[in-house]
Amino acid sequence: MATLRQQALAMVQARPRVSATPPSSKISDYFGTNVFGPSQMKQSLAPSVYKKVMEAIEKGTKIDPATAEEIASAVKIWAISKGVTHYTHWFQPLTGSTAEKHDSFFDMYAGMEKFKGSALVQQEPDASSFPNGGIRSTFEARGYTAWDPSSPIFVFDKTLCIPTIFVSYTGEALDYKTPLLKSMEAINEAAVAICQLFDRNVRKVTPSLGIEQEYFVVDKALFSARPDLVMAGRSVYGHTPARGQQLEDHYFGSIPTRVKEFMMDFEVEAHKLGIPVSTRHNEVAPGQFEVAPIFEEINKAVDHNQLLMDLMDKVAEKHSLKVLFHEKPFAGVNGSGKHNNWSLITDTGVNLFQPSNSARENLQFLVFLVATVKAVYDHADLLRASIASASNDFRLGANEAPPAIMSTFLGATLSELLDELEKNGNVKIEKGDNMYMKLGISKIPEIILDNTDRNRTSPFAFTGNKFEFRAVGSSANCGGPMMTLNVIVAEVLKQLYKDIEKEMNAGKEKKIAIVNVLRKYIKESKKIRFEGDGYSEEWAKEAEKRGLNNFKSTPEALDVYTKKATKELFERHGVLNHVEVHARHEIELEAFIKKVQIESRVMGDLALNHIIPTAILYQNKLIENANGLKGLGLDNSAAVDTIKDVSKHIANLRTFVNEMTEVRKQLNKEEDVIKRAKGYQKEVKEAYFDKIRYAVDKLELLVDDESWPLVKYRELLFIR
Ligand code: ADP
Ligand code: MG
Repeated sequence: MATLRQQALAMVQARPRVSATPPSSKISDYFGTNVFGPSQMKQSLAPSVYKKVMEAIEKGTKIDPATAEEIASAVKIWAISKGVTHYTHWFQPLTGSTAEKHDSFFDMYAGMEKFKGSALVQQEPDASSFPNGGIRSTFEARGYTAWDPSSPIFVFDKTLCIPTIFVSYTGEALDYKTPLLKSMEAINEAAVAICQLFDRNVRKVTPSLGIEQEYFVVDKALFSARPDLVMAGRSVYGHTPARGQQLEDHYFGSIPTRVKEFMMDFEVEAHKLGIPVSTRHNEVAPGQFEVAPIFEEINKAVDHNQLLMDLMDKVAEKHSLKVLFHEKPFAGVNGSGKHNNWSLITDTGVNLFQPSNSARENLQFLVFLVATVKAVYDHADLLRASIASASNDFRLGANEAPPAIMSTFLGATLSELLDELEKNGNVKIEKGDNMYMKLGISKIPEIILDNTDRNRTSPFAFTGNKFEFRAVGSSANCGGPMMTLNVIVAEVLKQLYKDIEKEMNAGKEKKIAIVNVLRKYIKESKKIRFEGDGYSEEWAKEAEKRGLNNFKSTPEALDVYTKKATKELFERHGVLNHVEVHARHEIELEAFIKKVQIESRVMGDLALNHIIPTAILYQNKLIENANGLKGLGLDNSAAVDTIKDVSKHIANLRTFVNEMTEVRKQLNKEEDVIKRAKGYQKEVKEAYFDKIRYAVDKLELLVDDESWPLVKYRELLFIR
């Protein structure tokens, strides 16, 4: 009988191809048609109601019950006209994916469809089955979802979705969105104060985000024939194919037809949802691709990214494809990240990370640039923790991926400029001097980064008018890392403002006060700046000399959440309280443990049920062959050698898998979650994963191809 692998391969060859036809050649014809956004609201709401909603969006004011009633009724009419029967509050619990619970509009007693304002504004899902890090046991299991008007309502999959925050009965955040919104407030406050030193008209500063999403695509049948991909999202076994990414022929190459049809299809759906996806291309590894939208306000960008992942998953189904968002689905080729392009933009339309021709604006630019670098230096451990996950551990520091060491890349021009500023510490600036000229910051050339000046190896790079946080994992909810980034930059901006004030109180002119503080900060944070190859061994050594941390595993990286300073920092900015920080730490440790546990089990099951039986059958064939040769009086030493090889790997596999299972059993008794997570890292993952994989991958090369049960790398990566 054919193996599942062979059946799957035959299926792929026989697949009818699905094509995509956009509804119009102009995206503007259908962009946002599935969104109840400002223009839709303007059309369907009374002017006074519309005004109140817009106010709520812009100023974060509360929506009163009467207004909510009017909105709900308009939304209902709009949704029903689109064939929608159910509504749901759509939120982002700490599982990393999105959650929804659908309720029907239909009210049997009234005999009609109804949607109340109260149902729009608030729902009460049972919080007890979502991760809550102990908040549940101390308080009640109830949780609330509450509408976040700053992110528009949309229709997805015939359901009306209302973006909401998710909090416990006692008000603790149980999601990614709540602290992200609070962190926007924190950085707004800190940044506006600084901006006002330069321009009194600035009233609001908003962080913007553009998320480049990398992903792999494999045929659905091949995916289903790999239990490890199904269970863990990652191939735990697989010998590197003869051809990987060494030819460098995939990156920016022509997109395979089948994948291109899929991309066009999900892009249409994304556009209808108002997700401004604009870029598509092949990535470095075979089978790897990227999609990027145009940047938006950070909260919307995160919502849109979560929605996009959902959408891609659903549309892939139609094309009999499977999208892999795992950070490292295949060993030996590139992993996937989610590059977070972040900047700060004022309500006067100035991007604070955009160098300009005006000397004054340049000084402001330098303040924000230096503050961000200082924030990364001061809080590198927090940034590292914000991207820590069991899956990202496989990527950071591996093949062509940013290291786990945090550093910033500024490019030659800016690096020299900061060095100059620091060195010219003694330049005396007299009254009437042109300080900008004297310091060489009157004109910062527009930084045009071509590919040579682009350092792709930095986890946190300045790219001309924004920072790009590249170490974020492809499956992550960006709300976590972006919330952290907003808070740490807010923290430094606040301190910076105080320091400037102090200088001014001591009689310094404003500009000079600012420059003095900048110099101090540049000096203090110098160690975090690195312009070289972040992938190299030398950098790891150099970083160690500089005293920068290199936390290679998640449990280690998360330790920073136990520190008093961490808890105080988040609390000071009103973003997370002590309980919430503690809960998040616990949730992430639990998630880590579960992931490693699942992988470890999958490895064991595959080894015992698939690999060893196949290898034994092959071993028997070899034994027959060796005996036959011997019976004929022929030399059978080669056959005997192969038998010995196969036997050795089988024996190792059995031993290691059994030992690993024992270790797991012991660890599961450990009550301290930190110790248990560290145990899973050291005693399970580090101690066994590579050893077990080595034996299986060797057997893959020895056992005849015909009977090998697992779809091979060359098939997963190249057959489409
Ligand atoms: P790449 O880094 O691959 O060259 P781009 O430079 O085109 O790609 O931009 C990547 C992402 O950065 C896009 O989503 C883009 O919209 C976003 N982006 C561009 N400018 C800004 C900005 N000022 N703030 C935030 N994101 C931005
Ligand atoms: Mg980029």
